[in-house]
Amino acid sequence: MNASNTAVVVGAGFGGLALAIRLQAQGVQTTLLEKRDKPGGRAYVYEDEGFVFDAGPTVITDPSALEELFTAAGRRMADYVELLPVSPFYRLCWEDGSHFDYANDQEALDRQIHARNPADVAGYRRFLAYSQAVFAEGYLKLGAVPFLSFRDMISAGPQLARLQAWRSVYGIVSRFIQDEQLRQAFSFHSLLVGGNPFATSSIYTLIHALERQWGVWFPRGGTGALVRGLVELFEDLGGRIELNAPVAAIETQGTRVTGVRLEDGRLFKADAVASNADVVHTYAHLLGAHPRGAAQADALRKKRFSNSLFVLYFGLDHHHDQLRHHTVCFGPRYRELITEIFGGNALADDFSLYLHAPCITDASLAPPGCGSHYVLAPVPHLGNAPIDWTVEGPRYRDRIFDYLEQRYMPGLRSQLVTSRIFTPLDFRDELNAHLGSAFSLEPILTQSAWFRPHNRDADLSNLYLVGAGTHPGAGVPGVIGSAKATAGLMLEAQA
Ligand SMILES: Cc1cc2nc3c(=O)[nH]c(=O)nc-3n(C[C@H](O)[C@H](O)[C@H](O)COP(=O)(O)OP(=O)(O)OC[C@H]3O[C@@H](n4cnc5c(N)ncnc54)[C@H](O)[C@@H]3O)c2cc1C
Repeated sequence: MNASNTAVVVGAGFGGLALAIRLQAQGVQTTLLEKRDKPGGRAYVYEDEGFVFDAGPTVITDPSALEELFTAAGRRMADYVELLPVSPFYRLCWEDGSHFDYANDQEALDRQIHARNPADVAGYRRFLAYSQAVFAEGYLKLGAVPFLSFRDMISAGPQLARLQAWRSVYGIVSRFIQDEQLRQAFSFHSLLVGGNPFATSSIYTLIHALERQWGVWFPRGGTGALVRGLVELFEDLGGRIELNAPVAAIETQGTRVTGVRLEDGRLFKADAVASNADVVHTYAHLLGAHPRGAAQADALRKKRFSNSLFVLYFGLDHHHDQLRHHTVCFGPRYRELITEIFGGNALADDFSLYLHAPCITDASLAPPGCGSHYVLAPVPHLGNAPIDWTVEGPRYRDRIFDYLEQRYMPGLRSQLVTSRIFTPLDFRDELNAHLGSAFSLEPILTQSAWFRPHNRDADLSNLYLVGAGTHPGAGVPGVIGSAKATAGLMLEAQA
């Protein structure tokens, strides 16, 4: 593509926004079309009674990828958004009352590990060295490189073999660390990108090294402030974004796409189209009229999809300063619960939770003296467990409130000002996510890199994908990397 070209990007999630910025920065006149009334996708923002709730991503890692995006556009990130450091990265809590503060402080880590099992201090060092090696190979080298041909996969093969990528995250962690709670502490990370630690490739231990390398951050004003910064950057560059603009179809002519048609009938012609929408939605619905769409949708439906999430947002007239910004509340079972979340056909009786308390870092997200929160529980997707969430959702909310009040937030119910839930049905209906999956295709080895839907479609030569469903995968750093890979392909293609 050259500077006189035009592009349409369907969907304003982090992947769509980052791609649109990269294209616009290179002079490709880019239009970003978003179905919902606000940009951000999974990083939507709810505002209720003075409380601000970031809907999705809250653990912002790899700020260098964001900085690079601004630099690629000739701007400085600091002029658009401020990132605040979060410490500890997370507090990990168990039902026996113990906790582990996971921070970027080797001495504090050693002390806590030693208190649990002295032998694990050396084991942790070896685990860290392992995860750093995977990080160098899997993230720094391959994280933003498109895998279009099997040759690319073969050439990565020796390194993957050397790093024993066929092992699971938990399997690798267990080789280095003996204490069961520490094994949980260093293996749960893949859940952040929809990966089952007992099935996902040990490559995903790289998240640990990535956090140790660059820290955990939170934008001042919330993740929504980062989304707003990206939109502002895109518009400053001359890009055009339309909200409330659901795309009904990607138009084709032979083996080329020619633009998109909105549900209201408006046509947007373009030299290239990139979809940030769910990959099954893209092929089954947006390209349903083209043989490629139907065939690819059938193939994708046979793949394994990540779990869904139940998310509960709540505002309290009290600030719980005993909390940390990010808390993981492990339930009584780990392996068994995760097995049921990824493969079970019903909701388990117990849960493990992630609790977000952003006012610990930025009090402006709630009225003075109050606290904005969300808590999420990983749950099966609708294909495995076709739960009627209109009935189960309010019940599940009450169970979670009871649990939090009992163990972590005394007085919660009497402090409650507002709450709302987001269930697998909302992932399906609001975000067009296949089976209500929160993270798209499950990141197992046979669905990663070349095995993941490619950043450029194999048949429709000017159709591209960006976001969680393509390489490298879910998570903010993942989809920002996917935008770099996809933009590279789009910019090198000659119209
Ligand atoms: C609750 C939750 C917490 C998370 N926490 C973290 C975290 O702490 N750190 C982290 O790194 N990652 C986290 N993740 C994962 C991360 O948020 C996602 O992987 C990432 O944001 C997905 O970005 P994406 O570019 O794939 O687009 P998405 O966010 O999926 O956006 C796609 C967009 O396409 C739009 N769209 C769909 N169909 C159409 C259509 N037909 N026409 C127009 N628009 C359409 C949708 O409305 C949506 O806005 C979390 C995810 C969730 C759900």
